[in-house]
Amino acid sequence: TLTKSQQLIEQTENFGAHNYHPLPVVISEAEGVWVKDPEGNRYMDMLSAYSAVNQGHRHPKIIDALKKQADRVTLTSRAFHSDQLGPWYEKVSQLTNKDMVLPMNTGAEAVETAVKAARRWAYDVKGVAPDQAEIIGCEGNFHGRTMTAVSLSSDEEYKRGFGPMLPGIKLIPYGDIDALKKAITPNTAAFLIEPIQGEAGIVIPPAGFLQAAYELCKENNVLFIADEIQSGLCRSGKLFACDWEEVTPDVYILGKALGGGVFPISCVVANKDILGVFNPGSHGSTFGGNPLACAVSIAALDVLMDENLADRSLELGEYFMAKLKEIQNPMIKEVRGKGLFIGVVLDEPARKYCEALKAEGLLCKETHENVIRFAPPLVISKEDLDWAIERIKKVLS
Ligand code: PLP
Repeated sequence: TLTKSQQLIEQTENFGAHNYHPLPVVISEAEGVWVKDPEGNRYMDMLSAYSAVNQGHRHPKIIDALKKQADRVTLTSRAFHSDQLGPWYEKVSQLTNKDMVLPMNTGAEAVETAVKAARRWAYDVKGVAPDQAEIIGCEGNFHGRTMTAVSLSSDEEYKRGFGPMLPGIKLIPYGDIDALKKAITPNTAAFLIEPIQGEAGIVIPPAGFLQAAYELCKENNVLFIADEIQSGLCRSGKLFACDWEEVTPDVYILGKALGGGVFPISCVVANKDILGVFNPGSHGSTFGGNPLACAVSIAALDVLMDENLADRSLELGEYFMAKLKEIQNPMIKEVRGKGLFIGVVLDEPARKYCEALKAEGLLCKETHENVIRFAPPLVISKEDLDWAIERIKKVLS
């Protein structure tokens, strides 16, 4: 007879589209950095739902906000005002030091929104001729799965069979300032970049690139858009990964941990000269900015600040990375990262090591074939991290 987990996996495989290849583990409970399967086996979460659970699973303050708001009002649509949207706007505006916030639900939708804003800004403010606006992206990027996001992608598997792709997109090698210089034309609306590429395998641009790219954008009246959906909100050891080079992008795209892993919410943040291009009727979302998401997000942002999760990520990340670098094994090509956003690059597929780590009680996921990503919830204790390091050493040595 099948275990409960096996039954659930079979059901999932039978009825669901096969657009994912999950590790064979069923999570039915979670708290902080720990998750449990229906059989009661306990695992440490080293993925944090692709950095959506920076605050830890079911953080009590976030769950409390969810429950309180669920008992009041959950959805108004934007046809009416709510008592949560304004306070949330103000909080995000203060956090980012920008004038305006536009709420959506998922990361990909926020990327869509940023690209729409940049294009309209190009026509209405910069003066680009109709339908000529160009967006420059980076090879290896991941901005989501909508048509705009996959049109931006350099990964053939993300695009195959989904054409025609969106026009007006150029890609440069990640971190190549000369290529950016060459790619910019009078029609360039924006340069869109992940300040650390997450899905590509925790790829950090050469030192000084973000700063130089920002300056180049300023010289050419091009918007610098930072997709901080995965790298932002304390993951890299700073509030935003752009802070590593003291760059304030023209546009921030946020998601994932913005909802504390409890409720989806994303947004685009910029000053009025950019987000002011939207007028009633030009853009929207039924669920975008709903009161439940806003209440949860306010609590999620409070937890990041009150618990100093950026500093915690920085300190524990440095410690973790030093320990990982001690592991002697020729198949480890590189250990790289910032804060608790770490990739271990192998010279062979990482999947079997993720399976071995799972057997030791650690949930990790390979990214781009050869990279193991270590990105635990930022609330992880030093003791729990030591527990993990012991097991990682055992599997990778
Ligand atoms: N942008 C980045 C940098 C991401 O890492 C992701 C998700 O992994 C997305 C966008 C897409 O977010 P979502 O899956 O919420 O649409």
